[in-house]
Amino acid sequence: MGLIEKGKIEGILSGYKKLCIATVCSHSALQIFRGARQEKVHTIGICTKDRLEFYKSFPHAAPDEFLVVDSLADVPVDELVARDAVAVPHGSFVEYVGERLDGMAVPVFGNRRSLQFERDRMKMFSWMEKAGLRVPKTMKPEEIDRMAIVKFPGAKGGHGYMIVKSEKEYWEKIGKRKALIQEFIVGVRAYPHYFHSAFSGAGFRTSYGHVELMGVDRRVESNAEEIARAVAAGGNVPLSFTVMGNASMVLRESLLPEFMEMGRNVSDTSKELFGGMHGPFCVETIVTEDLDIYAFEISARIVAGTNILYHPYAEFTHGEHVSTGRRIAMELKEAFKKKKMNEIVY
Ligand code: AMP
Repeated sequence: MGLIEKGKIEGILSGYKKLCIATVCSHSALQIFRGARQEKVHTIGICTKDRLEFYKSFPHAAPDEFLVVDSLADVPVDELVARDAVAVPHGSFVEYVGERLDGMAVPVFGNRRSLQFERDRMKMFSWMEKAGLRVPKTMKPEEIDRMAIVKFPGAKGGHGYMIVKSEKEYWEKIGKRKALIQEFIVGVRAYPHYFHSAFSGAGFRTSYGHVELMGVDRRVESNAEEIARAVAAGGNVPLSFTVMGNASMVLRESLLPEFMEMGRNVSDTSKELFGGMHGPFCVETIVTEDLDIYAFEISARIVAGTNILYHPYAEFTHGEHVSTGRRIAMELKEAFKKKKMNEIVY
């Protein structure tokens, strides 16, 4: 399905009398609902029956209203529009709905074109290159001359990735399967959370607004995180990268300007490539012992690492702690008040 015309979404938005925030009950939904509630914005949770009990169990983060669906891939578009809702995409939302998000006749916070870039690895690489990011080398099997990580298409949260050290090992372990081979970077992984705002004066100025640093997390992956214990206990355990959760981190302060610059470059190039990202995004990075920052992916929407609700950078920006979920509600409220929803919703 092709991309819905921007004019159609603008037409829908022009009929909105109030603001309401909706998302699929998964990933970072609790944070999105909690943040909207703090900003007194009505919320709708798109939820399957089996998840209702869980999402109802948090009185301060449950949505005000549920739309019950058979599958989380079935976004009830007409019901959302009838309730003046803006859909907030997150990792599972994007995953479940896939390409159908392009044509979905409901206003989506941000720019749905950015999600096309997130889905397509070649587009993603061209974006990262344009933004001047240092990226791990991509290799063909015959070029494997160092430790490499092999990524399979559609792999969820690092599940099933493999490590190889030579072409021979590649053919033995992977064979003819379609995969991306990338230089394995040794270093500390850091996932900075940014927020691009059309209205804020904080953070670094971009060509179409400002980019704020909200926080940084580190992913907790199995069994990479626990491997030292297993090896010490005498086990021969393969390295794997399935995400289990996230842990908060702060960066050396001297590294932060470079991370801020990175956020600005990614924003500015997104403007040139597809009209600009709005709201939350993340650059997945690895910092080497020489303090070189490698970037291996951009997530053009809220990431689950923001579920850690306290990050000092958001407090330094806003004077009190503001979660990314709350920041989304703040930005949408301001756009609604200023009648500028078309600038940050598509
Ligand atoms: P991804 O699916 O690309 O987000 O990667 C999942 C996990 O694999 C990351 O969080 C890292 O721990 C690891 N990883 C991905 N790419 C690299 C790389 N080039 N070098 C080292 N580790 C990587």
